[in-house]
Amino acid sequence: MIQDIYPHVLANHYNEKAVPSGDSKVLVFREQDILARIRHDQELEYPSFARTGAAKEDCTYLFRIDETEYYFLDLAAGEELPGAADLYSEGWEFMNVRSLRRNVLEPRHELFAAMTGKHLIDWYRDTAFCGRCGTPTGKSATERAKVCPNCGYTMYPRIMPAVIVGVINGDSILITKYRTGFAHNALIAGFTEIGETLEETVAREVMEESGVRVKNITYYKSQPWGIANDILAGFYCEVDGDTQIRMDSNELKYAAWVRREDIVLQPDDFSLTNEMMLRFKEGFRL
Ligand SMILES: [Zn+2]
Repeated sequence: MIQDIYPHVLANHYNEKAVPSGDSKVLVFREQDILARIRHDQELEYPSFARTGAAKEDCTYLFRIDETEYYFLDLAAGEELPGAADLYSEGWEFMNVRSLRRNVLEPRHELFAAMTGKHLIDWYRDTAFCGRCGTPTGKSATERAKVCPNCGYTMYPRIMPAVIVGVINGDSILITKYRTGFAHNALIAGFTEIGETLEETVAREVMEESGVRVKNITYYKSQPWGIANDILAGFYCEVDGDTQIRMDSNELKYAAWVRREDIVLQPDDFSLTNEMMLRFKEGFRL
């Protein structure tokens, strides 16, 4: 999956004292696009702090990969960088984060860094002002949080929980395709509502999208999914009773029981959904 970057290790402990050095990597976003360069056809690269000419005070520490690779976020994103013309002439350009995934670029830890950075910049942008009183917010001195200097309201990173569900019917699993967006095979998925458990989300989403009742709901694994600001929790379960599918055609364009051997996987191995389909294809039973 996208977060499986071994032998590299993500260290995401917040360090409020970290300041960029010349070779720190700086993630510069413009809307959903990130400033990057592709070398040797496949190799994804981000500019160094020295190369961007970004102002130190605009850069927020994000995370570290291994002992040596420090990533910062340029919060002045959207404004022209001092050396922009030179950057563009050297092949740096703004690239859509979703398209990076579609192009299956390497190395994987840099792709994961883009997705995680995109999740973080969304949060920094969305918390520029206090949601209670409208005052511009400041950064907490001790943790990754934004604090309102007027009313004291503290905003923590926003991570939206959602479930991915493999609904099993004997040697078949419920495969779906979304009406819009991602074009490949998927499983039932949906966001957790306030007041329900993850298991309740599973039962509700399966019922809403397919009209099927489920039992034996069993947790599998989770996955950070920065593209949609999510944490995904994967569950398998079994159909309970009537197996007839009544598809929600507002969300889906396809929903059917597909036998193990007929499952067509996604074109890359980044998603929890794909891993769950693969595991079932290879013989998994609840
Ligand atoms: Zn406030």
